[in-house]
Amino acid sequence: MFAAGRPHVAIPGPSVMPDAVLAAMHRPAPDIYDPALLGLMESLTADLRWLAGTAHEVAVYIANGHAVWEAALSNILAPGETALVLSTGHFAHGWADMARGLGIGIELQEFTGGAPADPGWLEERLRADSGGHIRAVLVCQTDTATGVRSDLAALRRAMDAAGHGALLAADCVASLGCEPFEMDAWGVDITLSASQKGLMTPPGLGLVWFGPRAAAARDRLDGVSRYWDWRPRARPDDGLWQYFDGTAPTHHLYGLRAALDLMRAEGRAAIWHRHAVLAQAIWAAVDAWGTAGGIRIEVPDRAARSHAVTAIHAGGDLGERLRLWTRDIAGLTLGVGLGRDPQSAWFRIGHMGHVNAQMILGTLATIEAGLQALNAPHGTGAIEAAAGVIARASTAAP
Ligand SMILES: *Cc1c(COP(=O)(O)O)cnc(C)c1O
Repeated sequence: MFAAGRPHVAIPGPSVMPDAVLAAMHRPAPDIYDPALLGLMESLTADLRWLAGTAHEVAVYIANGHAVWEAALSNILAPGETALVLSTGHFAHGWADMARGLGIGIELQEFTGGAPADPGWLEERLRADSGGHIRAVLVCQTDTATGVRSDLAALRRAMDAAGHGALLAADCVASLGCEPFEMDAWGVDITLSASQKGLMTPPGLGLVWFGPRAAAARDRLDGVSRYWDWRPRARPDDGLWQYFDGTAPTHHLYGLRAALDLMRAEGRAAIWHRHAVLAQAIWAAVDAWGTAGGIRIEVPDRAARSHAVTAIHAGGDLGERLRLWTRDIAGLTLGVGLGRDPQSAWFRIGHMGHVNAQMILGTLATIEAGLQALNAPHGTGAIEAAAGVIARASTAAP
């Protein structure tokens, strides 16, 4: 009815692609032996290190997020070895499943009710593992299904306090380029991400950063799947093909270059601040809706809320009805309630990457219109509250 015009897809990935990224990809196929491509790849790996806050190595795969789960595991664990998965939602289970498929033993600890992974629990568990059976701790910085963000630096401190030698592997697919992240300063051994969320580039590139302890774990393995082996990819000595074990995904590289140019120009601190303020605007609106009826954010503690995705419990089947209304009537696609029973009670807002204040205020006002049209019980003042967050942040001292 009112959906003509440019649609907005506010799902938690693939995220909105900047015009500069799309334009960079719109060109003929290059000669893959052109030395300029090698220079492009070197510039990308340098900026990917900058983004993740690491001086260590990065391997780039033609792959999605699921694939880098397998890539990372293949380089640090042999079949029969054990990893501990700290779960705050659906994606931890996916990673655990991937590990089981490789013959890795999994111990999975669930943190429920929108709570982050508990460093105190981790310290106790590792202290009890005096034989050092747990070789790696796997955790999502943000679980995209729940919007729970765990404190990776605190988890590392817990591991150190326990005096345990396990590696810390962090899935940052939903959070990198949105949330503060400091791989080296926080003591993260392996970081995973993919191109289509905070990195604003089409799906298809999987990224794995690894530090010296992870590199040593790779070197102790008898063999690593030829394709997933990160060593030749991170230290190619024989041309572009070695970065990818074959033909390079040239157009993705052009797109990623444009995305990283945008990120370099804005700066990490400014990117993180923009995401934080836009997230707070969303929380203010949901809090106002929740003053009447059952609408609420999954994560009670604001410190454990993602700045990139928000999972909202609407109740009944309101999540699904709202999603259909905003999509069909107003041109706004919201995320589904992933891994929920019933899924229809939930919806998610993706606010990662190429998003600004007008997009978020438009998203919230469209949801408000949907709630009114559907006669769903909700509190008033949501849009004023969200606008107030942005207005105040715009005048605050930097
Ligand atoms: C999106 C996502 C994945 C999976 O990525 P795909 O590219 O869909 O395979 C894994 N982990 C997290 C935290 C994600 O948000």
